[in-house]
Amino acid sequence: MEDNKGESREDRQPKSNNQQGRLGDAEFVANLSHELRTPLNAIVGFSQLLNQQLKHLPDQQESVQMIEQAGRHLWELIDQLIDLVKIEGGVSPLNMEPIDIYSLLKECINLVNLAAKDKQIDLFFTPSTDPIYAMADRLRLRQIILNLLSNAIKYNVEGGEVHIAANGMEDNITISIVDSGIGIASHQQQNVFKPFQRLGAQFSDIEGTGLGLSISKELVELMAGEIGFTSQEFEGSRFYLKLLPANVEGRKGENAPVKKVIALSDPAIKQNLKLLYIEDNPVNIRYMKMLLEEFAGLELTTASTGEAGLEQVKLCQPDIILLDMRLPDMHGLDVLAKLTEDSKHSAKVYAVSADALPAQIERAMRAGIDGYITKPIDIKRLQQVLVA
Ligand code: ADP
Repeated sequence: MEDNKGESREDRQPKSNNQQGRLGDAEFVANLSHELRTPLNAIVGFSQLLNQQLKHLPDQQESVQMIEQAGRHLWELIDQLIDLVKIEGGVSPLNMEPIDIYSLLKECINLVNLAAKDKQIDLFFTPSTDPIYAMADRLRLRQIILNLLSNAIKYNVEGGEVHIAANGMEDNITISIVDSGIGIASHQQQNVFKPFQRLGAQFSDIEGTGLGLSISKELVELMAGEIGFTSQEFEGSRFYLKLLPANVEGRKGENAPVKKVIALSDPAIKQNLKLLYIEDNPVNIRYMKMLLEEFAGLELTTASTGEAGLEQVKLCQPDIILLDMRLPDMHGLDVLAKLTEDSKHSAKVYAVSADALPAQIERAMRAGIDGYITKPIDIKRLQQVLVA
């Protein structure tokens, strides 16, 4: 197997990614993200709905499925590109802490289990009894491991295998993911970590953007780690991560919260629920109306400005308020602040917004919002709100 590991680490300290973040950059990225996601909400949203409605017209359903698929691809591309811009611009600082590697690996393996089963790929993971802790940003490390695992499945063959292992040495922690897949030809290996390089996979029906590994490499290096691989065409690949160890005594593994997924016709969805949707964009309002038609006994009122929304709260006493963050007359958080001052209402307030950066979500959560739904709206996420 040829060795083509990432650059060697001259410096063992986490590199700076301009952690202060220039305001201009952060604002630019936030606006870019918002502007790109807003039209996507209509594309992915309506095609999801049409897909359900066209069950008896297979030809039309297939066309709509293609629109949805292309929309989702664009969505992934936008998410990843924005991620790359954020990392390179230093907009998204890392939160380095000791991470229980076994528990994180287990969480990631659970998340890809279904995709592996679909392709009849066996996943092997045998944690040792001793815990291993690395210094890393938990969410970012999870993102990297998920990328490696999903590649090991995507670029595998039916009936193939993926072996996951972690080893703790005194000066580094190594995570390795070995697959028995299609491998990478030696003349392509220098391009693996370059953005948009799919090394021929663009001609196959394997979905992807060619951005995952370049993002992973940037992130690992910001954590003072290293990513690399060895691969042999038609035999398989071994991707590895090396991370700084963390000395932690007696920490318990953190388990990921289990999300409840609800079927569209789930009876648990409350009846006679009054919903107020404060949103100025008519396309989003139309989409929400159509989406909620699925739920019998649900009453939807809309308001297109913050002021009108506050009026409606008094008039219709909603159980749930869905609140856009960028309203023509005020910011969603100002509406929330006014709602909090008014102790008479008992509604739960959820942001529904194309502002999807972690800092924006965190700001809303700190302001006391009950939950945050990002656009494009995922039907399942909305259902979770309706049964909460
Ligand atoms: P994506 O999977 O979205 O195309 P990545 O950046 O994750 O993008 O990977 C870049 C390319 O590297 C892939 O398109 C694929 O050709 C190749 N690749 C990545 N992982 C593997 C793997 N485990 N086996 C074979 N090829 C791989």
